[in-house]
Amino acid sequence: MVIFKDRKTPGIKGPKEIEGKNPVVAPQGFWVKCPECSEILQQPKVGENLDVCPECEFHFRISARRRIELLCDPGAFVEKDTSLLTTDILEFSDSQKYPDRLKASRSKTRLNDAFVSGEGKVKGRSVQIGVFEFSFMGGSMGMVVGEKIARVFDRGTKKKQPVVLVLASGGARMQEGIMSLMQMAKTVAALNNFRKKQVPYIPIFTHPTTGGVAASFAFLGDVNIAEPNALIGFAGPRVIQQTLSEKLPPKFQRSEFLLEHGMLDGIVHRKELRPYLDRVLGFLMD
Ligand SMILES: [Zn+2]
Repeated sequence: MVIFKDRKTPGIKGPKEIEGKNPVVAPQGFWVKCPECSEILQQPKVGENLDVCPECEFHFRISARRRIELLCDPGAFVEKDTSLLTTDILEFSDSQKYPDRLKASRSKTRLNDAFVSGEGKVKGRSVQIGVFEFSFMGGSMGMVVGEKIARVFDRGTKKKQPVVLVLASGGARMQEGIMSLMQMAKTVAALNNFRKKQVPYIPIFTHPTTGGVAASFAFLGDVNIAEPNALIGFAGPRVIQQTLSEKLPPKFQRSEFLLEHGMLDGIVHRKELRPYLDRVLGFLMD
């Protein structure tokens, strides 16, 4: 490995770097500055506005639980697969040991892993729903997240119910190596089985959706929709720019760019997501 000894570390960083302009979670505290328009806002007003800036419509990142609250009928969500726990099969360690990272993310999010799923209702219609939690290790997909997604599709198949997945992920979880990449095939296999029932699968892309998640089940929806200005792609724009040594077009890999280039079917404002889902599911199922 001598040949690698003098190589500089490429300047590629983790999910925080690829987030670009909006690395922001839903604000805490009374005052908050919008990262897009720099307006100083009152947090309760932002919260009332579904964590969207009332001045410029910037969509703050929200937790998986809040997302479920916004999409499902009140009290209708029943969470599933809460007891699955991953293991450190590679005894992986970078600047921190994998079990330490898991422990920190678990105490921060109060979740066992980066995905919340279960059965809910959207305007009275039963759906299988799953939501990524980006605050848990960048929403990365390891064995537990992959298994939970496969189970969402399996329940959808068994009950002949539509599947809605809300995506926010940096991709496969590197700490689980090949086992995390295997989840790409597993989730797609479960989706393929689900398709035989001819009920819809609707992925909702939120900021950011990249890597192994974008490259597996994410884009295989019957109607692919995204929130405004979400970063969506396989490799992040910084990696592509460094590889190609070319300047990328403005808004490259953002929702609006993808819609223009035929990769998405629609961009839906957070306020419109629930009625949009209701309309699309009604159109495809009734
Ligand atoms: Zn704003």
